Amino acid sequence: MGYDYDDQNIFARILRGEIPNRTVFESAHSLAFEDITPQAPTHVLVIPRGAYVSFDHFALEASEAEIVDYVRTIGTVAKICGVDLGEGGGFRLIANAGRDGVQEVPHLHVHVLGGRALGRMLQPV
Ligand code: AMP
Repeated sequence: MGYDYDDQNIFARILRGEIPNRTVFESAHSLAFEDITPQAPTHVLVIPRGAYVSFDHFALEASEAEIVDYVRTIGTVAKICGVDLGEGGGFRLIANAGRDGVQEVPHLHVHVLGGRALGRMLQPV
């Protein structure tokens, strides 16, 4: 059993240029764009250009070049948005995966959230 990637998902369509996006930064292997329903003053999604469903899929199967590019892009986005710890007040990264993680779009994306105090991470069960 492997990872089943749906190439009709909305982020695949953004990568193919079929749907517009508000790009924050792009690199050889990654794209960062504004979330369409922002939950904070900074809410950027960072996706790999490759066809990876989730963080685990990417972490286990992506090339080192893709992984380095992706991690650097996340850091660059934090800096561009002014939330990095060099200049700003901090941020939160979220990568929802699968059913229990409540992932809506089945193409890996890390949410970069910041620009306000974000509260505690989870509600107690
Ligand atoms: P998740 O629940 O982690 O899968 O998050 C999916 C995110 O994608 C949500 O925050 C949506 O607001 C965002 N989203 C869905 N469609 C678009 C789009 N066309 N452009 C930008 N963000 C989108």
